[in-house]
Amino acid sequence: MAEAKSNELMERIVSLCKRRGFVFQSSEIYGGINGFWDYGPLGAELKRNVKDQWWRYMTQRREDVAGLDATIIMHPTIWKASGHVDTFSDPMVDCKKCKSRFRADQLDSTPCPMKPSKMVCECDGEKTEARAFNLMFKTYVGPVESEDNVAYLRPETAQAIFVQFKNVLDVSRQKVPFGICQIGKAFRNEINPRNFTFRSREFEQMEVEFFIRPDEVAEKLGGKVAPFVEGMDLSTPQNDWGWEVWHRHWVAERVKWYESIGLSRNTLDFHWQKKEELAHYAKACVDILYQFPFGTQELEGIAARGDFDLSQHQKFSGKSMEYFDEEAKAKYVPHVIEPSAGVDRLVLALICSAYTEDQVPDDKGKMETRIVMRFHPRVAPIKVGVFPLLKNRPELVQKAKEVRDLLRPHMSVFYDESGAIGRRYRRQDEAGTPFGVTIDFDTLGEKPEAKDTVTLRDRDTCQQTRVHISELLPLLLEKVR
Ligand code: ATP
Repeated sequence: MAEAKSNELMERIVSLCKRRGFVFQSSEIYGGINGFWDYGPLGAELKRNVKDQWWRYMTQRREDVAGLDATIIMHPTIWKASGHVDTFSDPMVDCKKCKSRFRADQLDSTPCPMKPSKMVCECDGEKTEARAFNLMFKTYVGPVESEDNVAYLRPETAQAIFVQFKNVLDVSRQKVPFGICQIGKAFRNEINPRNFTFRSREFEQMEVEFFIRPDEVAEKLGGKVAPFVEGMDLSTPQNDWGWEVWHRHWVAERVKWYESIGLSRNTLDFHWQKKEELAHYAKACVDILYQFPFGTQELEGIAARGDFDLSQHQKFSGKSMEYFDEEAKAKYVPHVIEPSAGVDRLVLALICSAYTEDQVPDDKGKMETRIVMRFHPRVAPIKVGVFPLLKNRPELVQKAKEVRDLLRPHMSVFYDESGAIGRRYRRQDEAGTPFGVTIDFDTLGEKPEAKDTVTLRDRDTCQQTRVHISELLPLLLEKVR
């Protein structure tokens, strides 16, 4: 029952996404292509805002993180060194009868109640044994399709950061502890893309590699390695922080960021990986999960990866990844904390979290259902709608266009003069526009004391207040930045 309801909710969300232009199926006129999605006008703005907010929070507002923008195709040995060529695979099984493909690990979680010991699919066909299927997309660089020219579309953005570690260090005047961050496309040939954009074959990641001192160096500097204590100050880095406190620092920072863009803490969950779930080199990993209608699933992973990655690249490239720490008078390969988030999953979480239906009176006072996308103003695709009360009154239209032009250099504005004002508000409610500005006869001075004021409508409460045009820009900027 609960599942049917959440499926229904997901269907309504998917349908709104298409109807209003948040997300379209890629290549739709050719029947689509499984695991690929396009963002329409509203989705493109939303996604851009998410990335801008992340970038600003993670690098521009911090002293200790620098940015990078690397290529998608890189030297293939990188993926040997990182372990992706040998181990980045999922177990795949085929149905011998209907030829469907499945991930064995996902099949096992929903065993057939009739035949619990035998793997069957819906057509009841027999399954092959599980085989490892490497998720990297392969291509060739140059005109010759030979094994020597094989290259891969990156399955994550992180490795570029490791291989550029030394270059960034040289030019940015950063000192360990410091981080490098990157936003960009990643590709995984997922066996079974599903849940709308949640598991796609082409997606974007926002990743930071934050390089820290090995614990023994932190101990040397600070006299001891600070233990993690519940309630401790995690916002001011200290010399005696080892990997554990740094890891907690990043978990706290990331949660703060999610809250700052409107994902409240009570919609998030945490999965602390158990020892047996961890990669062999990882010291800890926590997944930040969001309660999607189709289940509570991962948005971001934050891992303490030791010095595994830099050491691997040192070994495979023959180039030293060591760092000389002047303060500690020590030479070492830095360790790393990696907060790794998916843009598309977060956009989907924001869409699911924003989606609400409520009852409001229409123009004639009759109650009707409205869909409201309650995006936080920081990520909302359109920040403000500007409306002349009537479109056939040139004075109103002219004044409304002046207000539009006043705001437009600073934020995304949607000007709309067509239809009844109530309908125009509804259209913006569905787009998630947090503010609506209406230019009426009072604006023009019909009531002299209200001259040059406009009504400012709040999407969530539908409350309207009168604001002087000169106050509009600072008031809105404060909310959308
Ligand atoms: P999952 O277990 O869901 O496959 P993962 O643990 O393999 O994910 P990571 O390798 O940790 O994922 O990637 C970091 C982040 O990149 C994820 O938290 C997720 O937000 C995003 N991501 C990974 N794979 C996909 C995908 N196929 N589609 C969309 N986003 C993805």
